[in-house]
Amino acid sequence: MPSITTEGVVLRYANYREHDRMLTVISPEYGRIDALSRGCRRPKSPLMPASELFVSGEFVFYQSHDHFTLTSCTLRDTFYPLRLEPYRLTCASYQAALCAAAVQPSQEAEGLYRLLLRGLYLLAYDDRGDALEMTSAFLLLFADQIGYRPRLTRCAHCRVPLPTQSSGRFDIEAGGLCCEGCSSRSTYPLSAAQIQWMAATLKDGLSAKEKSEGAALFELLRRYVESRIEFSPKVSKLLP
Ligand SMILES: [Zn+2]
Repeated sequence: MPSITTEGVVLRYANYREHDRMLTVISPEYGRIDALSRGCRRPKSPLMPASELFVSGEFVFYQSHDHFTLTSCTLRDTFYPLRLEPYRLTCASYQAALCAAAVQPSQEAEGLYRLLLRGLYLLAYDDRGDALEMTSAFLLLFADQIGYRPRLTRCAHCRVPLPTQSSGRFDIEAGGLCCEGCSSRSTYPLSAAQIQWMAATLKDGLSAKEKSEGAALFELLRRYVESRIEFSPKVSKLLP
């Protein structure tokens, strides 16, 4: 019987029939796996602990053509503290929903998988970090992972090099900063500090960050990412 074993994180679930759930799992090797967790809502089902949002671990799926059925899971983390902090839970749900929208079946997703694990870990366990600040950083790094790293050093329209250490304007459609000649009313003004924050985040990756430039960039980065994946997760409306 063909079965696959993979690390993964549960990105979402939907209750199905009387006792089942359909899970969407992100796997570094296999991308998105939509799998039936049969009987997981029965009392004492061994699959119940693995059939919850954000659960990470080593999953074993039985595969028949395009259909996957969860057979077992060795839990690694449930990120339980997220359940106690509604705002952090909302941020984590948003990050997971973005991954669910971007990741494709049978397509490796190592980078997105690592980014999400890091995002969940910081939201659940690192009280030093501001949730919105870290979600802004997540959005920027997510854009990079899906092939839309914003251009910060050259004009996104005419490619002229941009002055460093200066303010600028961001063009969502063009995918980066633009020079004075190419900026228009539909571009977003950014301070020099905000541009430096973006460059530093792209270089350093996701870490616990106190509230600084990132939180103010949330709206811009959300629009940028959601326009690229052509999807706005419902939970997005609960964030500022
Ligand atoms: Zn230009």
